[in-house]
Amino acid sequence: MTTETLISSLSQKLGQEHVITDENELTYYGQDVFSEANKPLAVIRPSNKKELAETIGMVTEHDIAILPRGGGMSYTSGYLSNRQSVMVDMCRMTDIIEINLEDMYVTVEAGCRWVDLYEALKDKNVKTPMWGTLSGLKASIGGGASQNSVFFGSGQNGAMSDSIIGMEVVTSDGKIVTTGSGAIENSTPFFRHFGPDLTGLFTGDTGALGVKATLTLKLVPDRPEKRFVSFNFDDYSGTLKAIADVARENLASECFGFDPFLQQQRMKRESLAKDIKTLGKVIGSEKGFTSKLKSAAEVVIAGRDYMKETSFTFHAVVSEMTDVQADKHLNRIREIANVHGGIEVANSIPKIIHAHPFVPLNNMIGPEGERWVPVHCLVPHSRAIDLFEAIEDYFESKQEVMEKYKIEAGHLILNIGNSATLLEPVFFWPDELMEFHYRNVEEDVLERISGFEADEAAREVVIKLRDGLLDVFADYGATHFQIGRTYRYSKNIKSETLDLITGIKNVIDPKGLMNPGSLGLG
Ligand SMILES: Cc1cc2nc3c(=O)[nH]c(=O)nc-3n(C[C@H](O)[C@H](O)[C@H](O)COP(=O)(O)OP(=O)(O)OC[C@H]3O[C@@H](n4cnc5c(N)ncnc54)[C@H](O)[C@@H]3O)c2cc1C
Repeated sequence: MTTETLISSLSQKLGQEHVITDENELTYYGQDVFSEANKPLAVIRPSNKKELAETIGMVTEHDIAILPRGGGMSYTSGYLSNRQSVMVDMCRMTDIIEINLEDMYVTVEAGCRWVDLYEALKDKNVKTPMWGTLSGLKASIGGGASQNSVFFGSGQNGAMSDSIIGMEVVTSDGKIVTTGSGAIENSTPFFRHFGPDLTGLFTGDTGALGVKATLTLKLVPDRPEKRFVSFNFDDYSGTLKAIADVARENLASECFGFDPFLQQQRMKRESLAKDIKTLGKVIGSEKGFTSKLKSAAEVVIAGRDYMKETSFTFHAVVSEMTDVQADKHLNRIREIANVHGGIEVANSIPKIIHAHPFVPLNNMIGPEGERWVPVHCLVPHSRAIDLFEAIEDYFESKQEVMEKYKIEAGHLILNIGNSATLLEPVFFWPDELMEFHYRNVEEDVLERISGFEADEAAREVVIKLRDGLLDVFADYGATHFQIGRTYRYSKNIKSETLDLITGIKNVIDPKGLMNPGSLGLG
């Protein structure tokens, strides 16, 4: 069968409007936040797991590769390939299938966005342990599971995969495989473990092993008592030590820091006027009337002047069941920060982020419309300071070329669970935006920015700098989320481990058609 007949069969199955072949649309689908690849042959949008399975089977029967795409909010070429491929866009599989408060789980279709799950659970006093990424207005839960994403709740509860009980995954031959207790005859998806952990196998695979159709996540009580606290530090080592200590004692649901450069980028981008707009949300999130007024007044009075231009900033959110527990954790964080040289400042940043967790993704460009790309790694706390210094040394060694192309870099730091520090250098450089940015950044932001001419040379330098950082990270035995086609999973793991995962890939995907190249496999 020719490609044309395959596309016609897919159109018959899904309806023509759900099989995209328009060249402009395909150009858009050939881009992520950072990169561009060949256009896929077509983009298909199945509406349920049966259609998903059948259409994947139809595509691979013709030796054409599958590229799974959730919200598309990634920047590691996870769904981009130069091979002849059909992209599966999960944007129609967004249902919240079951919220089970008796057995404490929720099942969603993989294309469901974090913001929709958040809204659905908000009044039920429950949450998933990790409950979203900062990109959650567009990013999907299936994408999060495939990236092993982090942010809200990750300080205490770890990465996305730690919140998942089970999944239904479509493999390249169009079969639906169930993991967790949902795979047992007569059971329900209430528990992850029964024999080897097959749920774990599909987490963080960036779509290399199959397309997630549905996911079941744990539910936990939403801890109502919140405390927010921020500190300025004179240097990175105090910030890193404080984050590590807060992590070790499992004190904060989110704990993160910015270096002075990234802090200033945030300040340039956001205005106090916007903070005040967000105030409505801050006020709404507080319990009593007095507390609402106090919080509002604090954010307004604090403004942004308290952020010293040279300071590292540290922010923590405490989420506990009772007043007493919350205050205890807050006071302990204060003690830790003091020991490491932190000076307490207004807590507007964590308060605003929490009150309005899923904002438009305008941060995918710089304040003047610069291009933006982060690169991250996770190391044990004991290596974080040395690695931070190694990253700074690396930037120092590249200062000339960075200055030549006006490439700037800052740092985001956070802890993931109690054993890992995540370091995320973030690059900004003047360069032309892509169609991807025009479709995903808000119009009023696009109108405000001046924009830049295309600078392919600068982009190439950023790619090399990012690659150079991967060498630095490798020296520290770092691990990564969001592997896609960027992080060196297959290159950095031991050969016996690589043999095992390659063998598994060959069994599940013998023709190598499931997102080939993702994880560096196939
Ligand atoms: C402004 C901004 C803020 C961000 N903040 C965070 C953050 O706080 N934390 C964080 O971890 N990341 C963050 N990210 C990165 C990214 O948005 C997340 O990793 C997010 O989880 C990606 O989800 P998505 O649905 O957009 O996935 P996509 O980008 O569509 O896909 C990501 C990978 O998963 C695969 N995939 C997607 N859906 C499926 C599926 N159903 N089955 C199998 N494979 C699939 C794709 O093939 C690809 O390899 C941010 C990005 C931006 C632009």
